[in-house]
Amino acid sequence: MKNYKIVFFGFFTLILFLIPVLEFNSKSGYPEFFILNSAEKKENLHKQEAPDTIINTTVDKKYLLGKFNPAEERAFVEVDLKCANRKGLYLRKETYDAFIKMFEAALKDGIELSIISATRNFKTQKYLWERKWSGKKLVSGKNLAKNIYNPIKRAIIVLKYSSMPGTSRHHWGTDIDLNKDKNDYFLTDKGKKIYKWLKENAHLYGFCQTYTQKDSLRATGYEEEKWHWSYIPLAKFFLAQYINKVSYDDLKGFMGWETAKEIKVIQNYILAINKDCK
Ligand SMILES: [Zn+2]
Repeated sequence: MKNYKIVFFGFFTLILFLIPVLEFNSKSGYPEFFILNSAEKKENLHKQEAPDTIINTTVDKKYLLGKFNPAEERAFVEVDLKCANRKGLYLRKETYDAFIKMFEAALKDGIELSIISATRNFKTQKYLWERKWSGKKLVSGKNLAKNIYNPIKRAIIVLKYSSMPGTSRHHWGTDIDLNKDKNDYFLTDKGKKIYKWLKENAHLYGFCQTYTQKDSLRATGYEEEKWHWSYIPLAKFFLAQYINKVSYDDLKGFMGWETAKEIKVIQNYILAINKDCK
């Protein structure tokens, strides 16, 4: 009888100890336990597998479509100014931890990486997309609203370098733009060195250039972006979730949304990435 009491008391104490650890994070939907566990999973960066943080967790459509505010999510952190060009940039903690390791290694080699864009939610992407769509921002010197009346043609021009809201990898907290969002910059002496370093080393930290030069293996999709890098261990997981859960019916709420299905943005853009990033 005494033994039962000891076992029961021990079990009860264990449960009491576990309650605060397993307490679910109400904002992100991920258990706190997974979040705490993730930061220490260094070995996953090299294996390029989704960390335990989310591997057993399902993500909802809202998250995949970027319909949240990263500043309010516990799974996200603000990027320090030492490695960004401005305040208010957010990344998922796992992405940020991996980036910091890469940033420090680059610094030792005399390369200064600077994040110029990180998580962009649906609202931000809508703003960027609609500025080009409506002619408020010129695209290759052209006001698209005044020059390109066919919505499909107009969308395809905007899609050279900008994603439709709801389809950007920047929604996921896994993707970053580095140093300058112009390919020309990476042809300058400084830019060349940065790009060379990234090509040789980024994969060691789990990062991959998502939009490489178009070729037979990447015949459709965005133009080359030497500045856009994805944290693959996580992004791979979100991409798989996206393909499973999001359909063309979910892509609406912005100017030109009706072109998404005809252009097949999921197939021709979201899936048209560098094969090394898959
Ligand atoms: Zn980007």
